[in-house]
Amino acid sequence: MTAALSIALSKGRIFDETAPLLARAGIVPSENPETSRKLMIGTNRPDMQLIIVRASDTPTYVQHGAADLGIAGRDVLYEHGGDGLYQPVDLGIATCRMMVAVRKGFDYAGAVQRGARLRVATKYVRTAREHFAQKGVHIDLIRLYGSMELAPIVGLADAIVDLVSSGGTLKANNLVAVEEVMPVSARLIVNQASLKMKRALIHPVIEAFKAAAGGRR
Ligand code: ADP
Ligand code: MG
Repeated sequence: MTAALSIALSKGRIFDETAPLLARAGIVPSENPETSRKLMIGTNRPDMQLIIVRASDTPTYVQHGAADLGIAGRDVLYEHGGDGLYQPVDLGIATCRMMVAVRKGFDYAGAVQRGARLRVATKYVRTAREHFAQKGVHIDLIRLYGSMELAPIVGLADAIVDLVSSGGTLKANNLVAVEEVMPVSARLIVNQASLKMKRALIHPVIEAFKAAAGGRR
């Protein structure tokens, strides 16, 4: 059975930081997605359910209308491209920065100045490609799915493009951030067709998230 409105969320950081906003918006999940194996979770509102997806899949579910709303990081939205999505609220949660990082001691500025071809490992291929194109730096992109920090250490790449918050992971792996690509936070996303067809239902939810995000600051 599907409820009138569904919100796509990922477990982990996004759910943890979204739960208080949901509560402020009057939405309480009937089970904790972190401990439940269910991928569709009801809420205190009979007309609203959560669907639990992989973080990088959230925009895809919402784009195709498999979920009406979703919460996704700007990193993921940028890679997806944002087609078919309306992005009405920056929730100001899951904040971090997309950075270029290299092995400690690697002369990044020098390499860029010399016009050296840089080997860049990342899961954020679109973001990385556009960032370096804008700088006029030629790169060889190496697509990874995780543990990017390893790449410069074992000589797979000169640089990585990854999310950094405290910098602890970089430091633990003898890496340093040398350049910011963009600041990142999570946004509420809405399927554009849903917004038109279910405006009376969705509009108050958007307003509730706006208020919840504003009140959080
Ligand atoms: P996954 O490992 O599936 O990518 P995460 O929970 O690590 O899932 O990341 C989900 C989202 O949380 C990312 O898309 C990003 O927007 C945000 N995020 C990731 N890492 C950090 C971080 N270190 N600090 C704050 N937000 C982050
Ligand atoms: Mg992660």
